[in-house]
Amino acid sequence: MTKASKPAKLDQVGADAVDAARQALLELVPAGDVGEHLGVDVEGKKVVTHRFACTQTGYRGWSWSVTVARAPKQKTVTVDEIVLLPDEDAVLAPEWVPYKERIRPGDLSPGDLLPTEDDDDRLVPSFTGADELPDPREAKRVAEELGLGRPRVLSVEGREAAAQRWYDGDHGPEAPLAQSAPAACVTCGFLVKLAGPLSQAFGVCANAFANDDGRVVSLDHGCGAHSEAQLSKKQLPRPLPEPALDAIRREDLELF
Ligand code: SF4
Repeated sequence: MTKASKPAKLDQVGADAVDAARQALLELVPAGDVGEHLGVDVEGKKVVTHRFACTQTGYRGWSWSVTVARAPKQKTVTVDEIVLLPDEDAVLAPEWVPYKERIRPGDLSPGDLLPTEDDDDRLVPSFTGADELPDPREAKRVAEELGLGRPRVLSVEGREAAAQRWYDGDHGPEAPLAQSAPAACVTCGFLVKLAGPLSQAFGVCANAFANDDGRVVSLDHGCGAHSEAQLSKKQLPRPLPEPALDAIRREDLELF
């Protein structure tokens, strides 16, 4: 077990060197950009950092940091480093997020490209042995030659993620539209069935008047445009009264 090292003590000579630190700072930045001395921090043995307010426009909450050090048995300090650093209330740019993590569904415009990486775990090669090809781009040619059409297909992870996304979204059973539907999509004549494993839980709505027309819907989704939806007696329009015949004749009018 290693012994924890003691925190370094404040070097008084370094701490007193406020003027030397300010002087070094003024050699780099205009005097109008340097404000009051804010304090001194211990950096290590005989190494301290003096902080000065930054009064430069647009840098509210930032401070100049001037680090000075003293060699053993010396009575003067030397300047190590001068930097401008943000304090707690500094105005900072939001944390940078890579483009790949920022992109959201619907962000693509016509002409934009969003390449899928070779190791994207939502996809797997459509034929065995693809991993042994010397060049991954060869997979496309081999898939074409074998008549497979696609070099990669959905992996189990990719399929499960899509199913979960669809099921939890606006086209699943929890959507408000489905909650008040008279019946589920599975019994609707407008449901187009899918092929493959996803067909066990999903189909496509083909009702031009439904909100979900052209979208994948879960079999337990539903909406008021269900093919067998019927109006209840209360919702039916009231029947019209019997027609009344006007029996007054022309002769009757002439009597007046
Ligand atoms: S019309 Fe409604 S119930 Fe029928 S498939 Fe489309 S969403 Fe489902």
